[in-house]
Amino acid sequence: MLALITGASRGIGRAVALELAKNNYDVAINFNNSLESAENLKAEILNLNLNSNSSKNIKCEIFKANVGNPDEVVNMFAEIKKYFGESVSILVNNAGITRDNLLMRMKLEDWNNVINLNLNSVFYCTKEAIRDMAKNKFGRIINISSVSGLIGNPGQANYSASKAGIIGFTKAAAREYASRNITVNAIAPGFIDTDMTQKLNEKIKSDIISSIPAGKMGSPEDVARAVLFFANDLNNYITGQVLAVDGGLTMC
Ligand code: NAP
Repeated sequence: MLALITGASRGIGRAVALELAKNNYDVAINFNNSLESAENLKAEILNLNLNSNSSKNIKCEIFKANVGNPDEVVNMFAEIKKYFGESVSILVNNAGITRDNLLMRMKLEDWNNVINLNLNSVFYCTKEAIRDMAKNKFGRIINISSVSGLIGNPGQANYSASKAGIIGFTKAAAREYASRNITVNAIAPGFIDTDMTQKLNEKIKSDIISSIPAGKMGSPEDVARAVLFFANDLNNYITGQVLAVDGGLTMC
């Protein structure tokens, strides 16, 4: 079964691609800028075949595309189908960026870029994937939202809006496609140790960590295991849900 993970060259997407490959999914790795990291990930995944007792040979290839550009998304899906000879059954909409600033200082460009990449890309990729999923009467779509989309975050009006938008999109798509055996779920990670959070200064980081009941940041692997749960073809009755992977940050 073929999985496409957007923004898989680094961070959470990278961990998701590895976790799915370890569980015998073929993986299409999307990246935009980080070619070398994407190539290293492909090598690491193909290497799993050498050390595995499984009779299945995992297939893996990298696909460069800016998922915020609808034409590049259409081309990527065509290339993936051509390469693997099958369509995407598991879509993980993971690519995302931040352009933080206080609302009064936020530039229109930073608003538009974040909404386009984080939210519009989910529409572009899902639209491309869903036609074949509906035809095949099987699909698993997992959208990476954020706790910022659940409870908001100062300095992140653009990011919080994009991540809340993903949740609305997830529920609408889940309702539209549930009868075709396509589940659409979202994951809302909390504070996860990746390049995205490394950018924050130490004071902000320690303030955030002190507000997390688990008392620590999450790892990309924590999120990847939740993605595997939703991707698994044994789970066919859970749809339209948002799972917070956040060490208890947003529990109520
Ligand atoms: P990251 O370490 O900054 O990695 C971002 C990934 O997105 C990279 O692989 C990057 O690929 C890709 N990307 C960026 N622009 C792209 C584009 N135009 N087209 C295709 N791919 C693009 O971020 P992360 O922390 O792993 O975050 C992954 C997802 O989790 C994001 O949606 C983020 O909002 C969400 N999230 C993260 C946290 C956290 O604490 N880290 C918390 C909640 C939610 P290239 O380098 O190849 O461009």
